[in-house]
Amino acid sequence: MLREMDALPPAPHPYRLARIYAELAARARRHDWGTVDASLLHLTGLRPTSGNTARPRVASMLSYRGFKPAELAMLAAGEKPVVKFEDIPLAEADTFFARAEGHYRLIRSAPYAKDGLMLRTHPVGSDEEALVTIYAGRDERVDALAAVERQAPDDARSAGALLGFPPCCVEAFCADMEGSRVDEDTVNDDSCIRILSTAKPGRAVLNPLSNFELLGFYPCSAHCDAATALAERNLAALERQRPGAAARARQRLSGTYLFFRLPFFAKVPNVPADDGTLSLDGMLVNVFPHEPAATIQRRFAALLATAHAGLVTVDLARWADTVAPAAPVADRWAITVASFR
Ligand SMILES: [Zn+2]
Repeated sequence: MLREMDALPPAPHPYRLARIYAELAARARRHDWGTVDASLLHLTGLRPTSGNTARPRVASMLSYRGFKPAELAMLAAGEKPVVKFEDIPLAEADTFFARAEGHYRLIRSAPYAKDGLMLRTHPVGSDEEALVTIYAGRDERVDALAAVERQAPDDARSAGALLGFPPCCVEAFCADMEGSRVDEDTVNDDSCIRILSTAKPGRAVLNPLSNFELLGFYPCSAHCDAATALAERNLAALERQRPGAAARARQRLSGTYLFFRLPFFAKVPNVPADDGTLSLDGMLVNVFPHEPAATIQRRFAALLATAHAGLVTVDLARWADTVAPAAPVADRWAITVASFR
């Protein structure tokens, strides 16, 4: 007779997002939705329950593709000596070059493709799906940054110095890079969890989970003063360009988030109740504007709708600790609840 223990799948291998995401993408390509859902439950630690208790909506909150308003404002206002626009589709890059040439010093990277879920890049030819990074500015620091990123793409310290990032934030990111090398995880995921673990609540201007993010880098915490000063400067540049834009950006960057793994997260309109429960009613789940990631994210939204009976319990003791130390990413299957104000 088979005991329950024998029927269990093998214990999860050490946390390797690359491997989990590769399996997920392969199953999605085969339209094998049952095993896609099983992978998503493994990936996010969700427990499905019967009955639909929350109605999810989906929206592209964070896409990692295209021009970000704050970066365009920084370039126009001369706030930074060099601005880097990552993951720009080729056709959009051509349009930008046609408009900006003669006004700025411009360099574009070799074309690359980005994995739909992992956000890792690999070189490709100039096909329709290709993306490029554009370096723009007013002097030779544009050339210097493009050269650093071409010759030493892992040299975050040199790139960070040229881009004017605070040293505390650059060092935190370097630690994330080292950690992601050790356990084959993805650096963006670690950086986000690190910031969100200090956002109980954190400063809205440092929220990384939005296309309206104001920094172009990951701050060392959701309370970093140096990063806040830069974010406020960029917000002022945005406001000068388009009156009312600063208030809109602050509003978009505020809220309560439920973060599982990049790119799986949701924004909820509620705050935790006195007993620590957080209702998922009215949640907005992030989807990328491209396939196959969007389909997988929509399936995640449906699973989340039936998970945990529509409620997540928040550890209120930690929640009240507004400057919790940047926790090492120890429990990788834990749900991170964060709030930005
Ligand atoms: Zn910092």
